[in-house]
Amino acid sequence: MIAAPIVGLAIGSFLNVVIHRLPRMMEAEWRAQCAELEGREPPQAGRYNLLVPRSHCPACNKPLRAMDNIPVVSYLMLRGKCAFCGARISPRYPIVEALTAVLSSLVAWRFGWGAAGALALVLLWALIALTFIDADTTFLPDDLTLPLLWLGLIANLWSTFAPLQEAVIGAIAGYLILWSIYWLFKLATGKEGMGYGDFKLLAALGAWLGWKMLLPIILLSSIVGAVVGIVLIALARRGRDIPIPFGPYLAAAGFIVLLYGNAIASRFLPF
Ligand SMILES: [Zn+2]
Repeated sequence: MIAAPIVGLAIGSFLNVVIHRLPRMMEAEWRAQCAELEGREPPQAGRYNLLVPRSHCPACNKPLRAMDNIPVVSYLMLRGKCAFCGARISPRYPIVEALTAVLSSLVAWRFGWGAAGALALVLLWALIALTFIDADTTFLPDDLTLPLLWLGLIANLWSTFAPLQEAVIGAIAGYLILWSIYWLFKLATGKEGMGYGDFKLLAALGAWLGWKMLLPIILLSSIVGAVVGIVLIALARRGRDIPIPFGPYLAAAGFIVLLYGNAIASRFLPF
């Protein structure tokens, strides 16, 4: 049990890299594809992926020493400043690490050690990465949502979280429900309420948790989203017309249903 928070801290540290670099890697890929399409030379760029270059201070570019790279601990030891130039380090990094450690422990405690626990951890980690990427960029990358959908179907070949039949229907229905709402909303108001990434994320959650959990996920995410949205508008930090990403709420609701879906369903669902 003691392993879960430690593994969680290390994975949280890696998720910080994914959250920061994956959108930039995808953007570089789009630029290269556009250039190819138009017959231009692809833009020259150094190697940039999840492993290269090593983590460095964005202000002074000095690579981090091993002792500066310990999750949460280094941030506290350095009091949130770069060891070389003293530039402020975002508290987002230790927050993502601590959050991953706490939620990973919760998953290990709920599912125990075994295939279900390992798979649930992978789902959690993907949801954390998607949450912060969507909050930063309002994109949910296909590179995460689509593999997550496939993995959910594979996990349920053995009915790990839901019977396979419910998982397949969950994937299809998850996509179609939000797709329909999107088009109804667009035809009625001319605005786009969400993006295609949201459909794919709900499809992935349907594949993992089965179609019966779609309604609880949508209701939970709407409630959380409405509360947070009202608070943000009340604090006047956002105008009413600025899109609020829906992905983080879907991800949070999906995680709650992963842990407590059966308890929620047996109490509130008629089927
Ligand atoms: Zn620095």
